[in-house]
Amino acid sequence: MSYEVFARKYRPQTFDDLVGQAHVSRTLKNAVAQNRLAHAYLFVGPRGIGKTSTARILAKALNCVKGPTVNPDGTCDNCREIAAGNSLDVLEIDGASNNGVEQVRELRENARYAPSKSRYKIYIIDEVHMLTAAAFNALLKTLEEPPPHVKFIFATTEPQKVLPTIVSRCQRFDLHRIPAKLIAGHLQFIAGKEKITLEPAAAHAIARGAEGGLRDAESMLDQLVAFCGEKIAENDVLNVFGFTSEQTVVDLMGKILRSETAPALDVLYQQCEAGKDMMRLMSDLISYLRDLLVFKAKPDALQEDVDPETQKALAAQAELIENDRLLDLIDQFAQAEGRMKWAPNKKLHFEVAIIKAIQSLNQATLDEVIERLGELRDGKTSTEKKTLAAAPERSAKQSSVVAAVSAASPAGNGEQKAPRVAESANGDDDVEKIWRRAFSKIPNQKAFVRNSAAVAHVLPSEGRHFVLGFSPDQKSPMDILSTATNRKLIETLLREVSGKDWTLKITVRENLLPKVQPAGENASENYTDDPLIREALQMFKGHIRS
Ligand SMILES: [Zn+2]
Repeated sequence: MSYEVFARKYRPQTFDDLVGQAHVSRTLKNAVAQNRLAHAYLFVGPRGIGKTSTARILAKALNCVKGPTVNPDGTCDNCREIAAGNSLDVLEIDGASNNGVEQVRELRENARYAPSKSRYKIYIIDEVHMLTAAAFNALLKTLEEPPPHVKFIFATTEPQKVLPTIVSRCQRFDLHRIPAKLIAGHLQFIAGKEKITLEPAAAHAIARGAEGGLRDAESMLDQLVAFCGEKIAENDVLNVFGFTSEQTVVDLMGKILRSETAPALDVLYQQCEAGKDMMRLMSDLISYLRDLLVFKAKPDALQEDVDPETQKALAAQAELIENDRLLDLIDQFAQAEGRMKWAPNKKLHFEVAIIKAIQSLNQATLDEVIERLGELRDGKTSTEKKTLAAAPERSAKQSSVVAAVSAASPAGNGEQKAPRVAESANGDDDVEKIWRRAFSKIPNQKAFVRNSAAVAHVLPSEGRHFVLGFSPDQKSPMDILSTATNRKLIETLLREVSGKDWTLKITVRENLLPKVQPAGENASENYTDDPLIREALQMFKGHIRS
């Protein structure tokens, strides 16, 4: 028997064979079983995920001599001809090369005649978005009043290019990219049939490289078998296709997040010397960042796509970076990817991207700068450990920011405004004291939070709940403190001053008198006039983000 590529040999033959498209196969099976068939179907999705296979299976289901049936036998003449692509009644047309109005007219002419031996005449038009406008219009006439024996199945990777009047006459199915785990499982299934030993890590590496396309994954497996024979290890996959291992991507990202410029560049150089595809590595890095972002939003969303090792890495690295910084990073790398595409020296652009990324991670946001300045003014030293809102990795760099600022304006220069509550080192549990100290640490530029906190009454704590009370007519300061961000800020401050993990409880008490805001609190809103801030703004010119 002649050699057949895996994608063809293991092409799904029944609805149940379809990998990763259960939502589509279930609906189609029901439609066939209940004989509620549309005249036209539109299958949408990226290439290599089973659109044409689904179309052929549907054609078999409709035209099998035992049909219409959910389980076409696959052995009758009709089924075999459809599978082989030479059925007279199932016409597969490539929209890219038959896109003219002439071809569509021909099709319409042809559609008038009854099928030669099957139940339906089925037109499968692949890449239907390639049809010209005139061809679409000609097709529309047939779609409006299709002969009862005619079914259309369209497939496209770009549905937005299909005439809306066509789309609206079709039942549309969106096929999804196939999760890496399912692809890896399918590759193992093929390996089992072919008596090939495929390391799980190798299967996963292929699946990752195929980016949700089953056909690509199968072709890669073909190539690997030709290259390595019957035993395929992860390294074979990485070497043959120039992929970088997931571990390396995680490692590189870790170094970037920890601002280790030289070691990060070393990873890049090693990969480059090993002949890895720089574009591929960049796109791996970006998709890893995307995973990180998704992970931060919904940790369990990636279970289907990511192996447990990577899950662990994501969990650890998600702690190191905030969302907006992450988004910035994705932007930066995506831009670098665009530049790399046409650049002869891709490594150079990659290097620059890494250095820039680390630099931008180290830039303090305006919030952070102002917060530090507030501390300076309060006479604290830069050696004091500060964890609020900043990732610990950046604190080294930021304390140098503070140091620079203190050099520019010697500490204790009499800027002290109000007498501050003395920082006592003993772990006093008195909630009033804790509150006063926490309150004093609310950054000056957070005027709303500060003013709202100023009118709160401290009530006796309840277990690990730190209770703040408001009088009934002070609802708006209460609402301000109740937002998740502000709550977190207060809780962090409480923990800082007391060393205890408090949960903030905010409550209304009828018997509380409204507190008046201390005068002068609003002065902090005018922070841009502050000479210290102005100095800092100059120092960070062009780098400050709000
Ligand atoms: Zn059949």
